Amino acid sequence: MPIDLDELRAALRIRFEADLLLGARALPIAAAPSAAAAPMKATPAPPHRVAAINPQELAQRSAALETLDTSSVRGCTRCRLCEHRSRTVFGQGSPAARIVFVGEGPGAEEDRTGLAFVGRAGELLTAMIERGMGIPRDDVYICNVVKCRPPDNRTPMPDEIAACSPYLFEQLRIIQPEVIVALGAPAAQTLLGTREGIGRLRGRFHDFYLSGTPMVGPTIPLMPTFHPAYLLRSPGEKAKAWEDLKLVLTRLGLPIPRSR
Ligand code: SF4
Repeated sequence: MPIDLDELRAALRIRFEADLLLGARALPIAAAPSAAAAPMKATPAPPHRVAAINPQELAQRSAALETLDTSSVRGCTRCRLCEHRSRTVFGQGSPAARIVFVGEGPGAEEDRTGLAFVGRAGELLTAMIERGMGIPRDDVYICNVVKCRPPDNRTPMPDEIAACSPYLFEQLRIIQPEVIVALGAPAAQTLLGTREGIGRLRGRFHDFYLSGTPMVGPTIPLMPTFHPAYLLRSPGEKAKAWEDLKLVLTRLGLPIPRSR
């Protein structure tokens, strides 16, 4: 079968971007494996990547998310963004996720497929999660603040965010993650109820109030970090994003993968 050079280039680009995220400063050159030199290692306990909930609880969460999507979001006309969408983009991943990643809104590829983070920024996010954090993407949950694509990928307007964010809050109440990662300023500002910029918010945990009202009810730790689309434009900031993700891994007691 002939090699598709475009596909090969794309795969190498994503791998290299993930390596840069991990702090690599040059293309990795793999050493030939040496069976004789390899020390015997004890098999480590598998990391606890999804919440330990019973099958009944898992089924309930799955059903609640499905109902929210099919009964409320798919036919939603609460704001003007419904006029431009091809389809709504509810979000996807494990209902038992320990981490929920929240972005801003769907782009062109997401609008076409109905899936969150599947364009170029989505490829980088997948690399950050899988190669950077060492977690299968299917073990986390990924969604956006608004469920319909803003025209020309503009930032969602305050009234659009106000109309749509109750869906996001409900998703978070159903999943009850242990950590939320807010990708970019609109997600962080919506969830924290602040106007502070992402540069000042990132790098430390904040309290997200599940009730949607500050100082009322239980909280979930929230780590703001840069949006992958911004990291594609500003690769020099990837090291900071990796620092943020390492804090998330530490908070969850998950191992920090070594640079490859
Ligand atoms: Fe409804 Fe949200 Fe789409 Fe607006 S963006 S129409 S509130 S689903």
